Amino acid sequence: MSASRRDGVLFVEDCDLTTLAERFGTPLYVYSRAAIESAWHAYDQAFADRDHLICYAVKANGNLAILELLAALGSGFDIVSGGELARVLKAGGDPGKVVFSGVGKREDEIEQALTAGILAFNIESRAELTRISAVASRLGVEAPISLRVNPDVDARTHPYISTGLKENKFGIDIHQAEAIYAEAAGLPGIRITGLDFHIGSQLTELEPLADALSRSLALVDRLAQSGITLSHLDIGGGLGIRYQDETPPTPQALADRLAPLLDQRPQRLLMEPGRALVGEAGWLLTTVEYLKPGHRDFAIVDAAMNDLLRPALYDAWQRIETVAPGSTEPRVYDIVGPVCETADSLGSNRSLALEPGALLAIHGAGAYGFVMASQYNARPRPAEVLVDGGTAHLVRERETLDDLWQGEHLLRTS
Ligand SMILES: *Cc1c(COP(=O)(O)O)cnc(C)c1O
Repeated sequence: MSASRRDGVLFVEDCDLTTLAERFGTPLYVYSRAAIESAWHAYDQAFADRDHLICYAVKANGNLAILELLAALGSGFDIVSGGELARVLKAGGDPGKVVFSGVGKREDEIEQALTAGILAFNIESRAELTRISAVASRLGVEAPISLRVNPDVDARTHPYISTGLKENKFGIDIHQAEAIYAEAAGLPGIRITGLDFHIGSQLTELEPLADALSRSLALVDRLAQSGITLSHLDIGGGLGIRYQDETPPTPQALADRLAPLLDQRPQRLLMEPGRALVGEAGWLLTTVEYLKPGHRDFAIVDAAMNDLLRPALYDAWQRIETVAPGSTEPRVYDIVGPVCETADSLGSNRSLALEPGALLAIHGAGAYGFVMASQYNARPRPAEVLVDGGTAHLVRERETLDDLWQGEHLLRTS
């Protein structure tokens, strides 16, 4: 792993986290280049014997330096907004390797993506298909499209991050997809290229994915009979990571499970991993401000739900450790931030040896961490550092107080 202890002190690659905290301050996001690249290569190698493209889900962590690293590896990208497309292009990503997901694509975003020349739009409704046809026709271009089908499988994950059941807002009911493909075939400005699904996040079992693929392949066969051939199949993202004691399948296990289903099919395989590429490659460092004993023992730290929302939003559990060994006895603490919300907790019932000033590392913070950060309670957002061996690159500066009112205007009433 990219984090290890040397003389009891936590390192990421060859960087001592106490030194990073002194140099850059806390709260601080720290990412490991080696961990991100090795996760990407694990995916790439697992599917090496098949024509494939990894489209990293930018929403998991959109820092430009991370996108730049992945672009340099030849990665594609899965975006959900025009803003994410702009980030990919800014970081040197290839628009020809971009797929555009999301249920609410605006007209200007569709135009932006058509102008950039993306690989495919993952279409989530009939209304969106009609809109894309109109925009492409107006621009005199063809939009490459894939229908995101909702295969109605239970991903057996947290309800908030499950997307493949028929009651979810995502995708097109797989039973209606054939009719919509037929309609798409007759629309101007539309070129049918693929089919995709994404059934949920933090998946720890392969069967729901295998199920979704089988149902999708049956549809691919029915489409072929009516003369609609596809050039790619996109299996979405969703592979889980280990936050606590989960045992998520590896990309190799995924590839092995899907191989007999895909067999000799000629379609290029696309996948959209987010969390699995960056989740375990990030840590949030935070300093203990106060210890507050009482009915429950609280450790009040300088990071809060505005910096890392997952524990408050999903009741998610992330491992919290002291960076250096403490000189006190461990006690059971609730680790909470300064934000005025009871939900502002980063972890409860954690046995830790703490004193004011102690530095903590929250693991599994590389995905859905900084991207969900806000300035709630007028808290400037944290800095981000990318570690590469013994070098720490500041890839995003800590926000200043001036950043808090960027773009705001006073009325100047007096
Ligand atoms: C969020 C999302 C992903 C990435 O999900 P992970 O669980 O982070 O792998 C991929 N595709 C789509 C359409 C998404 O919405």
